[in-house]
Amino acid sequence: MKIAIAGAGAMGSRFGFMLHSAGNDVVLLDMWQEHVRAIQNKGLEVVHDSGQETITIEASHPRDYYGKPDVFILFTKAMQTEDMLCKCQHLLGADVKVLTLQNGLGNIDVIEQRMPKENIFAGVTTFAAKLLKPGQVEALGSGDTEIMQIYGNDTEALLHLIDTFNHANIHAALSQDVMKSIWQKAAFNSVLNPLCTLMQNTVAAIGGYSRIDQLIEPLVEEIITVAKAEEVILEKENMLRMIRGVFDPSMSGHHMSSMYHDVKNGRKTEVDFLNGAIVEKAQRYHIDVPYNHMLYHLISMLEETAPSY
Ligand code: NAD
Repeated sequence: MKIAIAGAGAMGSRFGFMLHSAGNDVVLLDMWQEHVRAIQNKGLEVVHDSGQETITIEASHPRDYYGKPDVFILFTKAMQTEDMLCKCQHLLGADVKVLTLQNGLGNIDVIEQRMPKENIFAGVTTFAAKLLKPGQVEALGSGDTEIMQIYGNDTEALLHLIDTFNHANIHAALSQDVMKSIWQKAAFNSVLNPLCTLMQNTVAAIGGYSRIDQLIEPLVEEIITVAKAEEVILEKENMLRMIRGVFDPSMSGHHMSSMYHDVKNGRKTEVDFLNGAIVEKAQRYHIDVPYNHMLYHLISMLEETAPSY
């Protein structure tokens, strides 16, 4: 399969590496020139459980690429989606499928502005990765991926993509309810990422706070109410179990959140697509979400005042 990874940071590079290693024709498209040049000159270096590998893989700024991929896998941060799609406009023919595996709420709405709705696949993945330096990425453990077509019924293309992923060990399955999975992941990230970022501490440390339930329960309840207004049903006990599950240090509890790293490096975070999206949707349905409102503004304030972080 001919695959373009649109946004080849940590996750895009990891998925690009896995799909390329399984024999697919993969191009990494990215706007970060230093990263693209490093891959072009020295190859993509991938650090993983069993050592380190360097592969020769095509990389380009989207503006300079004129191939015809069957599928685009969007792996920019949520706030970069629109810019990336804009820069890829000349590549997005009528038959091209776009898959988003990004975190946050609202990615599909942005893609819908530029693509026929029936060409959009969406999903979530529990794979993880870390960018070490331009041209070098670390693959963190393994994971699972679920994918679904949002509108339409192109089962053949979807199953072909799932098959391609499974041949690359991406452990993919057809999602039964991808909007629920996207909301669940957004809820999880909306609770944990801002708290870790504000406290400048690990998930395990946050979970060690004796009255943590008094903070996470109202946050989760607010998100469940907004999700319900969007006809997505989340179960409170299930959400709380997912969140408490990662407080255990053996379940990634010792990791700092990516939001923390973004603020520390003076980069914008995905908060507009997490707590910010909850607040925006809540206003539309006249729902009060004071806990999410506060977290949204505290992180937005940190973004604006990052040098003192
Ligand atoms: P990333 O920040 O590594 O990369 C996103 C984009 O930012 C890429 O285009 C990258 O080239 C660019 N970028 C990264 N560092 C840069 C720098 N120093 N200067 C200039 N540009 C830079 O993002 P990611 O972690 O791969 O995440 C992509 C999407 O996948 C997000 O929606 C994220 O929430 C989601 N996600 C991430 C993980 C993870 O483990 N990283 C896991 C699951 C989902």
